[in-house]
Amino acid sequence: MHDLPHDHPPHDAGGRFDGVVARAEHEAAHWEKEADAIRMLLADGKRRFFTTDESRRVQEQLDSETYWAMPYYERWILAFSTLLMDKGLVPEAALLAEEARLRAAGLDRVEGAPAGHHHHDDDHDHDHDHHDHDHHDEAAHPYQEDHDAAEQLLSPLRLRGLAVRNLLLAQGVLTAEEIREEIARMDARGPHHGAALVARAWTDAAFATRLAQDAVAAAAELGLDAAGTKLAALFNTAARHHLVVCTLCSCYPRSILGRPPAWYKSRAYRARAVRDPRGILAEFGTTLPPGMELRVHDSNAELRYLVVPARPAGTEGWDAARLATLVTRDSMIGVSLARSP
Ligand code: FE
Repeated sequence: MHDLPHDHPPHDAGGRFDGVVARAEHEAAHWEKEADAIRMLLADGKRRFFTTDESRRVQEQLDSETYWAMPYYERWILAFSTLLMDKGLVPEAALLAEEARLRAAGLDRVEGAPAGHHHHDDDHDHDHDHHDHDHHDEAAHPYQEDHDAAEQLLSPLRLRGLAVRNLLLAQGVLTAEEIREEIARMDARGPHHGAALVARAWTDAAFATRLAQDAVAAAAELGLDAAGTKLAALFNTAARHHLVVCTLCSCYPRSILGRPPAWYKSRAYRARAVRDPRGILAEFGTTLPPGMELRVHDSNAELRYLVVPARPAGTEGWDAARLATLVTRDSMIGVSLARSP
């Protein structure tokens, strides 16, 4: 439908693509968690080696076909390895030497992958050939057409990620303990944190006001560290529903909800949330009452959104802990409503 001029930035998906949102999810694989952790540590308050915008700039220089075919965390590895080399923090010669060493030592293989099985990354696009997202056609998957031997080898970017990690550890820029702790920190974050915020807002009007005025401070009241980016709470009402997307990449209230689901980062969701939001809601089984206003919010590197769904009917007298069980991750993104009791 929407033709891509060659000079159109590849990442700017808003409105430009069709396709059903592939909603299959998997728990993040270890290499994905590690890439996530290394990228966060390299840009943390201690290191500040690059900004989110710099990381995005590297990815946005890819051509469109490569950008959309590349697994999400391979794009992150590409970004941080390129920036480290550009800034002289990791010499390219050392990186190439470490990759050669890993290959020679047979460490360029997918750990624990049984023969004939290829880890399935849900993040790249199934839009073209996967209209039935519940039944993936493995044979049609672009990353699965290779043969047994090749399937065991890490992709060039995953090998690069391993080599960068080893060099950073050898340089003392990162420690293995810091990487483990960062992974554990992200693993501990999840929708139960957002649900606690929402349930408190449902039961405490003064807290709801504070959450509306300063969501970072309100989260801190519950012991949740949302600092790092601004956070805005969007309150659904009887007349208005909010939906959140990042059309440019994957900005998400990670500090409150954890790592985003693969579909949130998919091309179809990023493209259609701003053009066909009611169609997106319908795919998630959500129908808004006629006449309800729908507002779509496009996130960015500085500002993340948390939807506060409307409190379901029939929950009068429930305490916050019980109410929190009705607050799903998807309801805090806006693709769903809170569960009914
Ligand atoms: Fe983003």
